Amino acid sequence: MLSEIVKKESSPNSGFQGFLKGIPSSNGIAIAQVEVYEQEYHYQYDYEIPENEIENEMLRLKNAIAHLNFDYNEVLNKSKNLSIVVAQIIETYQLILNDEYILNNIFDRIKNRYTAESAVIKEFDAQKALFKKTKDEIIKERIVDLENVKLRILSTLHLRVPDYSTSKDKIIVMSNLTPTDLVKFKEAGAIGFITEIGGIASHVSILARSFGMPAVIGVREASKILQNNQTIIIDGFTGLIVYNPSQSILNKYQNKINEIEEHKKRLGDLANIKTHTIDDVKIKLLANIDSLEDLKSVLVTGSDGIGLARTETFLSGLSRIPDEETQYNWYSEIANVMYPKEVTIRCFDIGSDKFSIGIPIKENNPALGLRGIRYLLFNKLVFKNQLRALLRASIHKNIKIMLPMISDLIELKDAIAVLDECKKELDSKDIPYDNNIKIGIMIETPAAVIISESLAKECDFFSIGSNDLTQYTLAADRTNELVTDAYNSFHPAVLKMICMTIKSAKKAFIPVSICGELASHSAATQFLIGMGIDELSVPAPVLLELKNIIFKINYQDSVELVKELMKLNSTYEILQCLEN
Ligand code: PEP
Ligand code: MG
Repeated sequence: MLSEIVKKESSPNSGFQGFLKGIPSSNGIAIAQVEVYEQEYHYQYDYEIPENEIENEMLRLKNAIAHLNFDYNEVLNKSKNLSIVVAQIIETYQLILNDEYILNNIFDRIKNRYTAESAVIKEFDAQKALFKKTKDEIIKERIVDLENVKLRILSTLHLRVPDYSTSKDKIIVMSNLTPTDLVKFKEAGAIGFITEIGGIASHVSILARSFGMPAVIGVREASKILQNNQTIIIDGFTGLIVYNPSQSILNKYQNKINEIEEHKKRLGDLANIKTHTIDDVKIKLLANIDSLEDLKSVLVTGSDGIGLARTETFLSGLSRIPDEETQYNWYSEIANVMYPKEVTIRCFDIGSDKFSIGIPIKENNPALGLRGIRYLLFNKLVFKNQLRALLRASIHKNIKIMLPMISDLIELKDAIAVLDECKKELDSKDIPYDNNIKIGIMIETPAAVIISESLAKECDFFSIGSNDLTQYTLAADRTNELVTDAYNSFHPAVLKMICMTIKSAKKAFIPVSICGELASHSAATQFLIGMGIDELSVPAPVLLELKNIIFKINYQDSVELVKELMKLNSTYEILQCLEN
């Protein structure tokens, strides 16, 4: 069976407003008319050709391949200026198209009296079947590449490629879009797209993100439901599609578009530049999120990923901890929206000033009570539900798990044992996940700092929680306004703790970030960099301001500054030194 892509016949539009939901694959919002392409099915290809037509079939296929190579080269030349990602994708396609093994098999099939179309379909489907056996989701995504090249050869054999010329200012709807199509549609002026299949790691999704073109994928039956020239809104942040929108929804989304434009203007080009010091020391700038809503503001900052997702704050307003499935949806959304960037999701830090669901007694000193990892190991079912949800959401390999409030090596080892139990449970049900998922810990107690050398040997990364580290080092409640003066992250003891932690991480060759409030404090940026911090994770609204500061910092000067600071013995002296 062969499918070809043809523009959908126009049919009357009911005019009723409707909603569709898919996977957000490239952020941004577009409002426009749709251009819908449908797949047409033909069955006549799978018949035996007479002996004397074999030569002709071979020639047809050779011509199609030559045509396609020309086409790919043209797109490649154009895309080299547009984006390296695009160029890499097209190069992958060329490699598949010209793969000698695949080509020889196709020609052999033609010699066995298959039509060129049948031979191509059978060979590519056989290759795809091999890929399907893998549990690795990234490799599985490559099946889409094989399918794209296959469809492209088939449509070239029939010279039935989409008509790009009518796509100006339109949103394209197609069962499956190839990157070549996307480049051509973009050139023709299309402003967004929807597909029925595809993954967020597929090349076409990566491409859309590099074009900054809003896209929603995996929208079942989109090409059947949507009608040519219908007005629609696509929201690439949430995956929502509204067709025949009412005036009030149109106004709401138009306002959102204006806000995004305003924001972009304010930030200039900063969002797209990698963060580095004057002397080119690279620093990762990540964002903290407290809710799924926060993701939208993170995306416009161009952050290097999520450095801290506080999952316990997702529980606010809920009377119980949601089941594994709900959590799986949360974590998948974060991972999908941010892909291919990494997201560090912290397990529930329940207790203390945060949430007290499931704590059996009223604690006199909750900050010193059943919180963070202690709570999770005490409520193992809660912990396991969360870990399984995180593992299942990790299939695209961009999730890292972080444990809160570690103060003892045994807590870390016990938590890893629980994670291993969860992995075994998923294995027994054949459920895929990232088997090399990274597990890291928050360093937020003096105990963790003091044993940080041994902790570093047992985990994949550190993140310094300067809020709690300050509270526990200085014995000053972070929530008590009476001790505001005593609670100061610039205290020399806190700075020494941070320095010690960074040294232990470096010794064990693991990355170290800081995600507490100190990371956003402009007076702290230089010494944190001088201490050797690799990553700063901050709330989205301050991210770009911080980037601007880092561009003006000299790493060598910062190292000298740290040497000076380490000689000082009071918060006052430290603040004085930083002012000068
Ligand atoms: C911290 O303690 O610095 C931290 C980032 O965690 P939280 O503020 O959520 O306790
Ligand atoms: Mg903390």
